[in-house]
Amino acid sequence: MADGRALEVLRRVFGYDNFRGQQAEIVQHVIDGGDALALMPTGAGKSLCYQIPALVREGTGVVVSPLIALMQDQVDALTELGVKAAFLNSTQDFARVREVERDFVSGELDLLYVAPERLLTDRCLSLLERGRIALFAIDEAHCVSQWGHDFRPEYLGLSALHERWPEVPRIALTATATAATRHEIAQRLGLEQAREFVSSFDRPNIRYRIVEKNEPRKQLLELLTQEHAGDAGIVYCLSRARVEETADYLVSHGIPALAYHAGLDAATRAANQARFLREDGLVMVATIAFGMGIDKPDVRFVAHLDLPKSVEGYYQETGRAGRDGLPATAWMAYGLQDVVQQRRMIDESTGDEAFKRRSAAMLEAMLGLCETVECRRTRLLAYFGEISSPCGNCDTCLEPPQAWDGTEAAQKILSAVYRLWKERGQRFGAAHVIDILRGKKTDRVAQYRHDELSVFGVGADLSDRDWRSVLRQLVAQGLLAVDHDAFATLALTEGSRAVLKGERRLMLRREPVRASRSRDSTPRARAAVTLPPQAESLFAALRAWRGEVARSHGVPAYVIF
Ligand code: ADP
Ligand code: MG
Ligand code: ZN
Repeated sequence: MADGRALEVLRRVFGYDNFRGQQAEIVQHVIDGGDALALMPTGAGKSLCYQIPALVREGTGVVVSPLIALMQDQVDALTELGVKAAFLNSTQDFARVREVERDFVSGELDLLYVAPERLLTDRCLSLLERGRIALFAIDEAHCVSQWGHDFRPEYLGLSALHERWPEVPRIALTATATAATRHEIAQRLGLEQAREFVSSFDRPNIRYRIVEKNEPRKQLLELLTQEHAGDAGIVYCLSRARVEETADYLVSHGIPALAYHAGLDAATRAANQARFLREDGLVMVATIAFGMGIDKPDVRFVAHLDLPKSVEGYYQETGRAGRDGLPATAWMAYGLQDVVQQRRMIDESTGDEAFKRRSAAMLEAMLGLCETVECRRTRLLAYFGEISSPCGNCDTCLEPPQAWDGTEAAQKILSAVYRLWKERGQRFGAAHVIDILRGKKTDRVAQYRHDELSVFGVGADLSDRDWRSVLRQLVAQGLLAVDHDAFATLALTEGSRAVLKGERRLMLRREPVRASRSRDSTPRARAAVTLPPQAESLFAALRAWRGEVARSHGVPAYVIF
């Protein structure tokens, strides 16, 4: 346990009463000179895990941080607390660099933040030789992983620190960590012997919700106006173009939205980020370039308009919501197009076979989360190796979808695709195939005389929406392929045969009917029941209690009340 010094520094310098979670253990381990790999979810308080040991130990804590934009903020915040902190990065003029270097050598700095590409220069390494180092902290350590989207080649050189300063303790910190990534981090940073501290990844105040995508922007607008009016939040999109369009769309509907992507110049990015952090109720529409290391406690929602590439990315991005512990929403609109697009990106990527296989596996896990009929949180935590019971605070717990035997429906779609090809030598996209199944006499059906096919009208029992859902799930499971051409035509896959021959039964997800939600959440209904803040927090407490009861009894929360 922490000796008195750590706790004293926590209270006197940072003004907090107590350590949270594993902070105390980690801090003490590093104070005692041990190496550590700390895995804590975003917002759990990783910074203190190296800041306090740096203050307690002799010398300066050297912090490697990938985000130049955030160094200034961190150093400002520390300076305000009376901690002597500085940074070295490419934004400074030479005079300032000299000043920082002098302060480091004379032992005046408690903490020195350095960009990774800077740290490994001869100038910086010889500077470090001339001062006294309390510890090395490697923040956002997952940047060393070549599989993640945050990969920084410069991180690969950081194992050199240990060779040069074997006696200086090192702590690597990250919020991203499956067992595989964890292993990779330890290996690449030479931290195999380090003690691992793994915190629970559960963020109970975040309500997860994944909806069928039909008109994504309109659906987003509904979410923002009906459930998050006036709230700060982040909307993630896949492409720069989509970021711009979506931000414009929101602004034109009266929502204060800003854009952030790598195509904007640095000054605009910095200005938008600063506004988002400082002003209330702004919506940041961004690519995944935005968000790492952002410490804004009151982000009330994170929305995804496009499917993330991996569960880790999804967890990381949604984890930016509700860092203050108050109720927050992680919302995503997901549809067939997402599956098609992600598959195409993998196929067309320049990576080798191993990369493609791994990307495909990551996508698979993400699709599993989208299509599950189980508790989303259980699914998500299972991905990080945690076992949990249904949470009572996600869409599948609150409005359980049905699992149904979709074998026959799947066979109808697959045979339609098969017959079109076999009998007519034709391939069509999803919409037309669904029209055929439902027996719709559209112009195109007439033009191609598709009403003469034996499968015409065999699927009149299901709605368009049901068919789209079946189709999407088939594609997600690799039982049906969508071509990468402009027509997005359907084709059978290796896996289709077993379903067609009845050798494989398929359990599918049926979206819950959203009658209650749409009634409750119309603006008028909301206005009539606007609750005082005390009532809101009472409801939040009741919801949390329900989750707890559900967890302790191992039942879904919706059975409680
Ligand atoms: P992370 O890097 O893990 O995402 P940060 O280190 O940025 O998280 O900390 C998130 C927030 O939690 C910060 O505002 C920080 O001051 C606060 N915090 C950290 N530890 C404690 C603590 N023991 N008590 C109260 N607040 C804390
Ligand atoms: Mg951090
Ligand atoms: Zn749940």
